[in-house]
Amino acid sequence: MKNSPSVAENQNLPTPTGSNPWASARRAKEAIMPAFANQVVFITGAGSGIGRQLALALAAEGAAILAVDLKPEPLEALGKYLGDARYAWAIADVTDITGLRSVVKDLERKMGPVDILIANAGIGRDTSALNFHAEDVEAQIKVNLIGVANSIDAVLPGMLARNRGHIVAMSSLASYRGLPKMSGYCAAKAGVNGLLEGMRIELRPKGIHVSIVCPGWIRTPLTANIKVPQPYMMDVEYATQRIVEAIRAKKEFFAFPGPARRRMRLLRWLPSRLSDWLVVRVVRRMSAS
Ligand code: NAD
Repeated sequence: MKNSPSVAENQNLPTPTGSNPWASARRAKEAIMPAFANQVVFITGAGSGIGRQLALALAAEGAAILAVDLKPEPLEALGKYLGDARYAWAIADVTDITGLRSVVKDLERKMGPVDILIANAGIGRDTSALNFHAEDVEAQIKVNLIGVANSIDAVLPGMLARNRGHIVAMSSLASYRGLPKMSGYCAAKAGVNGLLEGMRIELRPKGIHVSIVCPGWIRTPLTANIKVPQPYMMDVEYATQRIVEAIRAKKEFFAFPGPARRRMRLLRWLPSRLSDWLVVRVVRRMSAS
């Protein structure tokens, strides 16, 4: 594990400024000890894209990483990038509850109980109404929604027993309303929001935080074949940093970037005809660019 610098080693602590002594104390403490030091973070879908980048960012802040994905190679490669960070991985399909429970037990035996779950594994399939196959909807509901429920199931009993923990689920701005060709994905992500919002209320008094993260477009293998104009597409490094800050602040609902969030919120509340008309315009502009 990367050692956090001791107080004696760290001679350059920032001088506390501002009027809030608690915030100053927290900043000083973070300068001594990385924010995620000794936290055990379990990430599903850690072999690629956002999951992989989150593993790198959180390990750099002192977290121990437990990673699962469908194939071994990306997880082995991630281990090489993580260097001397505490890291354990296993193959697991988030749609298989029995397998996932047993994998999490094994990983926890090696590395300690999970403090933070990041239910990140996800897929995207075209579900155009003009070439509609219910199987594509089912696949997305299974991975993107049931997979989140299964991941929570695998860690929640332990968190409840310890009266602490943090559950983070990767939703999407696509959860705000149905979008053409993406209705299966939108349905799954809207389901994630409903699931987590309900659980959040019950888990708060038990000392367990719940965070729903709704990013806009991010450049990853998931979006490699989707035509999105440059200004709407975020780099995975930038997006991950925003997500790490939201996890650190234990935000209950974090949707970004701001302009896209505001547009999606407006589309959700406008009358349906007007909202649909605006969606068609945006989609046309995207495919013309
Ligand atoms: P990605 O394809 O790069 O990574 C997804 C990972 O999940 C892959 O490694 C894949 O193997 C894994 N995975 C898929 N099915 C799995 C299963 N059944 N069991 C275990 N692992 C499985 O995609 P990404 O862009 O990094 O997406 C990560 C999450 O962020 C997803 O939930 C996605 O819906 C969400 N998201 C992505 C974007 C974007 O623009 N990229 C935007 C909003 C939300």
